[in-house]
Amino acid sequence: MFKGILITKDEAGYRARFQEIDEAILPQGDVTVRVEWSTLNYKDGLALTGKAPVVRRFPMIPGIDFAGTISESSHAAWKVGDRVILNGWGVGETHCGGLAGIARVRGDWLVALPAAFTERQAMAIGTAGYTAMLCVLALERHGVRPGDGEILVTGASGGVGSVATALLGKLGYRVVASTGRTAEADYLKALGAAEVIERSELSGPGKPIGRERWAGVVDTVGSHTLANACATTRYCGAVAACGLAGGMDFPATVAPFILRGVTLYGIDSVMAPLSVRQTAWARLAQDLEIGRLEAMTSEIGLSEAVEVGARLLEGKVRGRVVVDVGR
Ligand code: NDP
Repeated sequence: MFKGILITKDEAGYRARFQEIDEAILPQGDVTVRVEWSTLNYKDGLALTGKAPVVRRFPMIPGIDFAGTISESSHAAWKVGDRVILNGWGVGETHCGGLAGIARVRGDWLVALPAAFTERQAMAIGTAGYTAMLCVLALERHGVRPGDGEILVTGASGGVGSVATALLGKLGYRVVASTGRTAEADYLKALGAAEVIERSELSGPGKPIGRERWAGVVDTVGSHTLANACATTRYCGAVAACGLAGGMDFPATVAPFILRGVTLYGIDSVMAPLSVRQTAWARLAQDLEIGRLEAMTSEIGLSEAVEVGARLLEGKVRGRVVVDVGR
C-alpha cells in the first residue's frame, strides 16, 4: 500500500480523494519509481475537479508529472537508483500518474533528472515550465531575437506564463506580461517582465488586424486573446500557442497570416519525442535562474492537492506549485 490521490467515477459521482492505494492498481510498465515530488499543472486541476474529461480510465491516480528514484527496472536504459523525471505521455490521464508514492511506467517515457536540478526543482518546472521552454524554442527557431522587439506573454502569473517570463527576461527579451492580476505586477517584474498589461486589453472580441506590436508571443490563454495576439504581431513575427485557460475557441481571421506573414506555432508537450524533451530540459538547465524559479514556487503536501487543484483552476494560484509526496 502507498499514499496517493485516487479518482473514482461511479454512481456516487466523480471523486478525488487522498487515501491509501493498493499497489495492485498500478498498470503494467517496465520501470517502477518511488515518487518524491510531483506538481500541479492546469491539466491536473481539470483532473482533480473533473471540470474537463482529461481522466479517461477509472480508478485513476492523477498527476501528469513526477520526479523520483527507480526502485525496479527491466528496461535496458534504466537501473535501480537512477533519478528520473516524467512529463506527460498520458500519465495521469489514461495511465496512473505522479500524485502518489509509487508510479509504474514505460522506461521510454523517462528523462534523466538533469544534474542542474533537484527533484523538487524539476517539479517546480514541471510540464508547465518545460512547455514554456518549448514555446521559447519555437520563437528562437523562427529567428526571433532579443533586439527584434517586444514579446507578449499571456496568462503571465500562471505556471507556463511565469516560467516563460523568467526565461525570456533572462535571455534579454523585452517581455510584456498580460495578466488579470495586475496586483502581481511586482512579482512579474521581479521574474523578468519589462511591462505588465491588463488581461482585458486582449480578452474581448477585436479587429481582424491591429497595430503591429509583438515580435513574438507565448500564449497560454487561447480564444480572443490568441486572436488579438495574432492580429497585433509584427510583420513575419511568430506566435507560440500552448494553452486554453481562456477558452478553446480561436475566433480569428486569416488576415495576420496572409497580410503580415505571421506564423502560428502549435506547442504540444504531452507526446513530444524524447529528443525534443532532452533539448528543452538541457536549455532549462542553462537558462532558468534558480532564484527566479524559487520565487515563483509554493509547496504543498499531497493531502492538500485536491483543494489546491480547484483553486488553480479558479486562477487563484500564482506561479508553480510543488507537491511533497511524502506528506
Ligand atoms: P495556470 O492555471 O497556472 O495558469 C493559467 C493562467 O491563465 C492563470 O494564472 C491566469 O493568468 C490566466 N487565466 C486563467 N483564466 C483565464 C481566463 N478566463 N481568461 C484569461 N486568462 C485566464 O495554468 P498553466 O500555466 O499550468 O497552464 C496554462 C495553459 O497552458 C492551460 O490552458 C494548460 O492546459 C496549457 N498547457 C498546455 C500544454 C501543452 O502541452 N500544450 C502544457 C502545459 C499547459 P493571469 O492571472 O496572469 O491572467
